[in-house]
Amino acid sequence: MVGGCVRDILLGKKPKDFDVTTNATPEQVKELFRNCRLIGRRFRLAHVVFGREIIEVATFRGHHPSQDDNAEEQNLSKQSDHGQLLRDNVFGSIEEDAERRDFTVNAMYYNIADFSIHDFAQGMQAVKNREISMIGDPATRYREDPVRMLRAVRFAVKLGMKISPETAKPMYELAPLMANIPPARLFEEVLKLLLSGQGLETYKLLNEFNLFEQLFPQLGPLLKTQNSRELAFIEQVLMNTDNRINSDMKVTPAFIFAALLWYPLEERCQQHMVEGGLNHFDAFNLALSDVLHRQIQRIMIPKRFTITVREIWQLQQRLPKRYGRRALQMLEHPKFRAAYDFLLIRAQIEGGELLTLAQWWTDFQNVDPEERQTMMKALREKEGGGPKRRSRYRGKKKATE
Ligand code: ATP
Ligand code: MG
Repeated sequence: MVGGCVRDILLGKKPKDFDVTTNATPEQVKELFRNCRLIGRRFRLAHVVFGREIIEVATFRGHHPSQDDNAEEQNLSKQSDHGQLLRDNVFGSIEEDAERRDFTVNAMYYNIADFSIHDFAQGMQAVKNREISMIGDPATRYREDPVRMLRAVRFAVKLGMKISPETAKPMYELAPLMANIPPARLFEEVLKLLLSGQGLETYKLLNEFNLFEQLFPQLGPLLKTQNSRELAFIEQVLMNTDNRINSDMKVTPAFIFAALLWYPLEERCQQHMVEGGLNHFDAFNLALSDVLHRQIQRIMIPKRFTITVREIWQLQQRLPKRYGRRALQMLEHPKFRAAYDFLLIRAQIEGGELLTLAQWWTDFQNVDPEERQTMMKALREKEGGGPKRRSRYRGKKKATE
């Protein structure tokens, strides 16, 4: 066994999963286990499946012969012009395998035959020093795989360790290499970063290395400001998410993406109104597509989540409009709860009218049906909306939706 499980046990933590490594090739593993499937292109692996449990089995990796094009010809090794490893399927010895791993704490092997730990990269020392330290030359290793920068931050937060100065230094400069990572891989990584239960702390550390703006380019200008309400909103959302995860409550990635992109959306919407002369409704809908489209260039958010992101945003426009049957219909909307939670956080940060609105929705959910009627009547009287106004709204709704 290798990697995270050995590290976590040495740190007194419960491993999330167990990675197995062997000198058998994936094909040989498949011959041994009927319940085995081979996966991966960039990094070929065997998955041995026991019911809902999957044991990931990797063959020892070796060095990539730089002068010799043989490996590339055989489709085993491939490197981009930036030094990025596009394929890593050259097999080797256990010592070579250790050198190809990312951090010293992740390169310890536990031999189940004799219960010994093989530490080829001074991982034990790093555990004692509580230090994340790259194996080999950090800059070269980040160029080979820029995701290692995200992993350094993730492990530092998760394990409560420091990133060693040599390992930290090249990150500031190399952060833009994140643009070369396939957006689908970044989606997976971002979930691990933000849905770990320590999302706020992870976000702050990513930001220190200018890595967060690489993941969310539209937040670039905002992240350079200080003490803005926009930043307070992001931090509040991440804090709430952490609290929910740590109390075993459900979270959807869509909520986080909706929150992170909320201010870019508002800004874009303003731009369409001022420069394009659009009304708010059209500007908002156009901006919503723009902002999502730009984001998925960097992080491939699956469609099932972008649909929810759109709904949460669109419901923010509908929550203030409570006339007629709208308020009651809103309660039935499958995404009402998410939209309401979103409104609560906006209100908490922005105050003012949003607070009144959020309180109204809180009350409206808590009272019985009769009182709901009273609340709606009070609203009509207060805002001077009568039957005439109501029908006008209905007409508008048809025209625009
Ligand atoms: P956790 O599963 O708790 O997130 P882990 O260390 O097990 O942490 P995995 O992503 O499961 O992380 O990877 C297993 C091991 O494979 C790592 O411990 C490391 O040795 C190696 N590894 C994973 N990704 C990389 C990478 N990008 N570059 C080099 N080695 C890697
Ligand atoms: Mg693991």
